Amino acid sequence: MTQNHKCPAITISQGDSRSGFMMRRVEQIPEIRVTAYEMEHERTGARVLHLHCDDRENLYAIAFRTPPPDSTGLPHILEHSVLAGSERYPLKDAFNELLKGTLQTFLNAFTYPDKTIYPVASQVRVDYFNLARVYTDLVLRPRLLPQTFAQEGHHLDLADPKDPGSDLIVSGIVYNEMKGAYSSPDSLMYKALQENLYPDTPYACDSGGSPEAIPSLTYEQFKAFHRAYYSPSNAYWFLYGDIPTADHLIFLEEILAGFERVQVDSGIPSQPRWDVPSAVRGYYPVAKAESMQKKTTVNVGWMLSENTDHDTALLLQITAGALVGSAAGPLRKALIDSGLGEDLSPVTGLERDLKQIAFAVGLRGTEPQKAQQIEKLILDTLRRVAGDGFDRELIEGTLHQVEFQGKEIQRGTFPYGITLMGRVFHTWLYGGDPLAGLNFPRLIEAVRRRWAEHPALFEDVVRKWFLVNPHRLLSVMEPSPGYLDEQEASFRNRMSGIKATLPADAIEKIRRDAEALKSFQAQADGPETLACLPRLNVRDLERTVETIPTERMSIGGVTALTHELFTNGIAYLDMAFDISDIPEDLQPCLPLLGKFMTNMGAAGLDYEQMAKRIALKTGGFGSSLSAGLFADREAQTDHKAITGFSEEKHWQKMIFRVSALYRHIGDAVDILADVLTAGDLSDETRMRDLLAEKKNRLHAAVIPSGHLFAKRSAGASLSVAAFRDEQWSGKTQLELLTNLMHAFGDRKEAFRDKLIRLKDLIFRRERLTLNLTADTEGLAMLVRAAQALLARLPMGGPAGPLSVPELKPRDTGVAIPAQVCYVAKVMKAPTYTDPLAASLWVLSRQLSSGYLYKHIRVQGGAYGGMCQYDPMNGLFAFLSYRDPHLLTTLDVYRRAVDIVTREKISVEDLEKAVVGAIGTLDRPMDPAGRGLTALIRTFAGLTDADRQTFRDGVLNVTADQLQETAVRYFEPAAASVVAVYAAEERLTRANEVLPAKLTIERLS
Ligand SMILES: [Zn+2]
Repeated sequence: MTQNHKCPAITISQGDSRSGFMMRRVEQIPEIRVTAYEMEHERTGARVLHLHCDDRENLYAIAFRTPPPDSTGLPHILEHSVLAGSERYPLKDAFNELLKGTLQTFLNAFTYPDKTIYPVASQVRVDYFNLARVYTDLVLRPRLLPQTFAQEGHHLDLADPKDPGSDLIVSGIVYNEMKGAYSSPDSLMYKALQENLYPDTPYACDSGGSPEAIPSLTYEQFKAFHRAYYSPSNAYWFLYGDIPTADHLIFLEEILAGFERVQVDSGIPSQPRWDVPSAVRGYYPVAKAESMQKKTTVNVGWMLSENTDHDTALLLQITAGALVGSAAGPLRKALIDSGLGEDLSPVTGLERDLKQIAFAVGLRGTEPQKAQQIEKLILDTLRRVAGDGFDRELIEGTLHQVEFQGKEIQRGTFPYGITLMGRVFHTWLYGGDPLAGLNFPRLIEAVRRRWAEHPALFEDVVRKWFLVNPHRLLSVMEPSPGYLDEQEASFRNRMSGIKATLPADAIEKIRRDAEALKSFQAQADGPETLACLPRLNVRDLERTVETIPTERMSIGGVTALTHELFTNGIAYLDMAFDISDIPEDLQPCLPLLGKFMTNMGAAGLDYEQMAKRIALKTGGFGSSLSAGLFADREAQTDHKAITGFSEEKHWQKMIFRVSALYRHIGDAVDILADVLTAGDLSDETRMRDLLAEKKNRLHAAVIPSGHLFAKRSAGASLSVAAFRDEQWSGKTQLELLTNLMHAFGDRKEAFRDKLIRLKDLIFRRERLTLNLTADTEGLAMLVRAAQALLARLPMGGPAGPLSVPELKPRDTGVAIPAQVCYVAKVMKAPTYTDPLAASLWVLSRQLSSGYLYKHIRVQGGAYGGMCQYDPMNGLFAFLSYRDPHLLTTLDVYRRAVDIVTREKISVEDLEKAVVGAIGTLDRPMDPAGRGLTALIRTFAGLTDADRQTFRDGVLNVTADQLQETAVRYFEPAAASVVAVYAAEERLTRANEVLPAKLTIERLS
């Protein structure tokens, strides 16, 4: 990103016709340094929006309006299937081939309730157009083979293909993906609100597909849906980045050749407004042994304005932010303080990805009989706010947050272009102005003016859209221990019903079809088919590592790293405290210390006052924990160095981060100083509320990221860094939180004493490293602010000797209420500077997109199967996600190792694996991420020279080296540990055959 604050020059004028496109509108938005072009393809009517800017991570996205006619998952199964292959690219799985051998920085597809989007991004121009060309062809001209439909959607099979008497089962990737989604309380809760607030629209259906309805979808319906909606006339192209508009138009004209304008009826009807509120009750699965107490969630939802009315939408966004966006929000506070539930419902907030906006709020951790009381409390609070008025500071804080988010360059897991695309579709998809939501500073200015003229602006919003709006739904979501059994039983009944009506030859046909599908899946694409994909060569790749500007200085005797980067007027300060010597009994308390410090009172202010200060003066304030191994320069190529590891050295830090607009740097750093030096842990009620929130969030994360929990459980016994990760964010942490929650009354004093001890021990100068990220102007301001902060921080307290826990390797099974499994097998692995590291990096890519993808996803029907090599923590992991299998998957892992140690990789596959591996190394980062990454590399002792050696190793790796590495790494049978998260019955059954039994534990 260069330091260009201005928009690119206008290259095509409004009203001009170019390459078959009519330029409808050109507008510059200096605040985000964008020149926007809105165009229409004259022949087909395709709509195109290009946000031209100086970001070299270009984004290409095609979207279609795809309202679902039912809950068979049509849009979702199609989203998966078009990416399988087209006439021009007749591959079995073109998507996976693109993932493997390109420099894509983002390649995915999303099914929304009313649209399907196919985005690709790359920082390399040739790669970008290669990807765009293939993606467009796949989407517009897919083959949609019956085999693809069967694999991605659903097909019947026999539970035991050798036994015609065995049960009929349904298999399919989307089918299993949705089984996972239907095990997650958060997804079910969101679904209940959406489907019941908009009962007379396509939103009443599940575009993702309900596991019950998916098997009734036919191949003909599937083909017809593509014919109806996937045409340029129903498409929206969103383009973003530094490639000139004219180049895009030449490209688009070429790929649109042969398409004509067609009539597409994809309009989303508005939901008629209700005259009276409504209510609904739903259930979600919990484990049979789990207590039913405080497991209900109560939500109240409203249907609000049309999304295209952007002015109202913005007022609603600010009002919602003021009501529930911070701990000082009156609605959030009233609900938490009431004690009617444990914490705010996870669906709380504004939903803008629908034609008419929705708002929901509620309580989690309550009882069904409290629903009316909760609804009344919500309405009474809104009435009070409308009557007494909002606290002005709350509105100011929310306006500041919106302004900050509009300004900050964010590139987390998604490219920045994706963030902007999301805002554009809120209006564009429904016929509104696509640019309405992009110019935040101007929009906020307009709101401020309106507010000055009309001081009751936000109170009126509360009245109109919440109090006198009868389109309101009370939704109660209760736990059901029988949920999974009932579903299993009804499924089995249905299947045996079907089977009973089928003659023997029909059953034989099912068996033969399933067998034919498996052999179809097993055949690899031929070399000439694979060659049709445009591809990058290793020689085209950048040889040199990208570095992050880093200067080392001393501020008041404390080491400080500074990173001079263009941050669009935002400064980032990290304070990293060494915690590697914290005694074992205190280590598990560190995550709560971070949570409490950043969310409670300080310096004479209570938590509510602090929350307002944080919203007004910072763009974000939080803490995190980080641990890793040191880059080990003494590592030997001898395999004993990999399996030995007894003398492993690690680092651990607690990092506080604050971000602020330049004009607020002093105030933001003051907040941080107040928290660290005068943090107040005396408010017991607040402490209990935060504890409940943390516990519930971690608990709700288990099912959606079961593979990561399984990886943590297994990795914890292999390296200290991984042990800490599990202890701080895995099952162990969840247990601690649950136990503490149950006995809070008895244990709070002792617990608070521990936290005070920790505070005293940690927040001292000698433990500190500072990390500053901004441009020259911002850095100078940050240094001054940091000096003031250090003057307040107590001296003393350098870290003592390392605290090292005892590691006990053991295979575990964790019982969870889910219809699918998450299977992890984790091994110790060398760190970055080991000579084997580069080859292992390439091997993990090759296995993930090759053998594991094919056997766990394509043939196994799981949503995902992969391996991850983590050189920071010294681990190599095999993982599966939303997996119908358990034992089979463990077999696949074993065979994967056999294959890579025995078979040499082909020249073509090696080339692709290297390109893909470089792609993962070159993921772009936002300014904040770059500053933090440089800090972590410093802690790990990883220099740019080490990174260059590693990159050279990846670029130069040969087929022989890969195989040799596989042999040296895998054959000595490096200590491996298995962890499986699955339903208890599955675990017990697995133990009947597993030679090494899983120790079965329950999730608390
Ligand atoms: Zn999917």
